[in-house]
Amino acid sequence: MAALLEIRGVSAWYGMIRALYDLNLTVEEGGVTALLGANGAGKTTTLRAIINMVRRNGTMVLSGDDISKCATETIVRRGVAQVPEGRGTFVGLTVEENLRLALHTRRSRAAALRDMEMVYDLFPRLRERQKQQAGTLSGGEQQMLAVGRALMLSPRLMLLDEPSFGLAPLVVREIFQVLARINTEQKVAMLIVEQNAALALELADTVYLLETGRVVASGPSDLVRNDEALRKAYLGY
Ligand code: ATP
Repeated sequence: MAALLEIRGVSAWYGMIRALYDLNLTVEEGGVTALLGANGAGKTTTLRAIINMVRRNGTMVLSGDDISKCATETIVRRGVAQVPEGRGTFVGLTVEENLRLALHTRRSRAAALRDMEMVYDLFPRLRERQKQQAGTLSGGEQQMLAVGRALMLSPRLMLLDEPSFGLAPLVVREIFQVLARINTEQKVAMLIVEQNAALALELADTVYLLETGRVVASGPSDLVRNDEALRKAYLGY
């Protein structure tokens, strides 16, 4: 498999506080990479660094192109869609209006409308609630909408920040099943940040463990799943 995203020697800062130290990480074309670690390890910061939303240096290469100096909008236009923690939907707009927001960024309106149908097929609950204000959706439905909005950008890579956060186990299962379908059917690669390590390891093929802004272990998720010492030390189970 070829690398879709390569992060080389990336550090990041919030003012004087350094949050990442010389991070190296790869997401393969069509692959799912999980970023695991305790609170404050730098997982969210890594996602922010990729789309240039935090002060950082180092090199980011997307499909062979250096995007280190690109603005957030350019990186998104090149196929990197973010599903932020806290979901980031427009609460005053309806489900349909939230999805339609992406239309003006797409070259083909017909393709975008087909993608909207695909989102409704993946999440029938969103189709039922097309006309409902996003702010009145359940937490699970808002997460579905956030994933749907990212899909409307026709991404090659989705950055997912804690998609299971605050949701009931059954809804989490449903969302992860759809994420797996998006990966296999639409060939969208994913970089996923999760507190629920067991869940993330099921979806991901590759895993990176972060501790205080540094990668402390990485490899195929099978290896991490089967390494009890590593799991106990860094994942708490
Ligand atoms: P969590 O699972 O709690 O979200 P995380 O691994 O995503 O943790 P980050 O949010 O990336 O961790 O935070 C990494 C470090 O950067 C932490 O020490 C955090 O306090 C600090 N940090 C994050 N955001 C800011 C900010 N806006 N201003 C200052 N420091 C920040």
